[in-house]
Amino acid sequence: GAKDVIFRVVVDSAGDDIVLSFEDQTASEEAGKMRRDFVANVSHELRTPLTALLGFIETLGGAARDDPAARDRFLGIMAREASRMTRLVDDLLSLSRVEEDERVRPREHVDLGALLSSVIKGLEPQAEAAGVAVSLNLNSPAEMVPGDAGQLVQVFTNLIENAIKYGVSGKAVDISLQARRHHPRLRGEGVEITVSDQGEGIASHHIARLTERFYRVDNHRSREVGGTGLGLAIVKHIVNRHRGRLLIESEEGQGTKISVFLPVG
Ligand code: ADP
Repeated sequence: GAKDVIFRVVVDSAGDDIVLSFEDQTASEEAGKMRRDFVANVSHELRTPLTALLGFIETLGGAARDDPAARDRFLGIMAREASRMTRLVDDLLSLSRVEEDERVRPREHVDLGALLSSVIKGLEPQAEAAGVAVSLNLNSPAEMVPGDAGQLVQVFTNLIENAIKYGVSGKAVDISLQARRHHPRLRGEGVEITVSDQGEGIASHHIARLTERFYRVDNHRSREVGGTGLGLAIVKHIVNRHRGRLLIESEEGQGTKISVFLPVG
């Protein structure tokens, strides 16, 4: 849609001349708005579980004091709310850390095949519980890329976890790694990792916004599976730090394919 452009009029008196100039303030105005929205979002996201916790604490001290069954049920809910808050705070910390060192190029060399295998192993219990089989296809074994191993673990954990969460029981999640001497869409040499699921997919008008902080597709599934809406924002920052590319392709009712291209040079 149409965007408002915000100008700041600058009056400068240089000697006897008065110079009027117009500065485009749109970008900094937008950054300011994003910052305010972000703080509002964080506050809201933290407030919700806190309110629930306070309510249950009160009930436990009062009405439910002598009702062991109710007490157990409330403690269960409280534990879930508290772990939701923990996840949110962890994600916020990751996000601010990644933003912090986005300009610093990672120096380690990472064996992506080994890294993917270990991420998948860690997610096995979750995949099993969801009835999803995760397969790894290493077309180029022992592919080394300059990178930050801890951050790349975060990238693939988020992507594979999403594929499991938003996938469908009985359907597969396929991960593949491919060396690209000439990437069809990019210049330069690198490694492409794709994570494909056969889940419900994402409507095209949502795709461009998925990497925004707190953006979640407002469907029944997203609300049900729980998450912070920060995962893909973190992924995007880490991929940027690696001078890589993130590509999201999806078709509603068919599934989603997310590719990460990491340059080797
Ligand atoms: P969340 O914590 O909500 O999973 P993310 O930033 O990781 O946050 O993802 C943002 C939103 O993108 C999700 O809430 C979901 O609506 C959508 N999404 C992400 N991955 C997939 C996928 N593989 N299939 C369908 N929808 C997805």
